[in-house]
Amino acid sequence: MNKGFYLAVEVGRSKIVSAVFTMKLACMGRERVAIKNEADSDGILTSVLECIEGALARAEVTLNDVLGLGMSVPGAVSSEAGGGFAASSPRWESDPLRVQLQAELGLPVFVENRGNAATLGIYECEYAGKSGDLIGIFIGGGIRSGMILGGNLFRGASGWAGEVGHMVLKRGGPKCRCGNNGCLEALASRAAILSRIQAGASAGRRTILGEVAGHEIERAKNSDLRKALFRGDALVAESILESAEYTGLAVASLANLFNPAVFVLGGGLIRALASEMVPVILETVDQHVMPGTSKGLKILVSDLDDHAGLLGAAAWARRNRLSKT
Ligand SMILES: [Zn+2]
Repeated sequence: MNKGFYLAVEVGRSKIVSAVFTMKLACMGRERVAIKNEADSDGILTSVLECIEGALARAEVTLNDVLGLGMSVPGAVSSEAGGGFAASSPRWESDPLRVQLQAELGLPVFVENRGNAATLGIYECEYAGKSGDLIGIFIGGGIRSGMILGGNLFRGASGWAGEVGHMVLKRGGPKCRCGNNGCLEALASRAAILSRIQAGASAGRRTILGEVAGHEIERAKNSDLRKALFRGDALVAESILESAEYTGLAVASLANLFNPAVFVLGGGLIRALASEMVPVILETVDQHVMPGTSKGLKILVSDLDDHAGLLGAAAWARRNRLSKT
């Protein structure tokens, strides 16, 4: 057997997913484990190792045949001297985790932010060779994103570049998780949609969302929004429309700024409501984009779903390994 596989790990809020990929990024086996103690970095390390072991077993690949591990993590990942990467997250520091994993596995470990990793996965697996410039925007409970410019991830001076969700689009707008006000995430994410619906309900407007979800509005899922929308809930429809319009404004501004050939939209909210949101996004972009940048501009929805982040983590390890050999 040739030594030629890559391991990928994606660390989410409550779960870890790992997979083994061939050199050409075909998935050989995949495993998922719940994070046992998310506040504890040792607990994360144990869960990551358990998940990797499961993925290797499913793929029938041994560590000796693995060239490197790519990790997709929440939080920004900054470049460091010596080619290492450190991530900051409110829950844990990933640089000690990277160093511990390298020691435990005897493999080079490369870390990237989740939005960047998903964008890279889509770029390498869905749009390989078709364009050097692509921006990925993933809308769910929050907003993740990444930018490929000239064929490379654009990371900025300290690794924070490409945070589309924190572009400020409304002066004095709603509070964002980042501490700012009026960010795209606070206007267009599922959390933003739900908080507008809750505010409307508190002001006496009628909505069936709480009834459809079976619990409070703030915890409603994408599928609950879809059900309420199809049952004619006007408040839900209005809030989803507003989210699509703000997303369109963000895409138009980014198109004017970077003139990429392709925007790729993804994430749970977009997947659940693509046929309702995407036409509004396209129309809003059309109204706000400069004629030069609109020429040939493609705005597409990714087919890779949740797999994009893992593919991107493997692609990130492959890119780093190839650049060092
Ligand atoms: Zn923000």
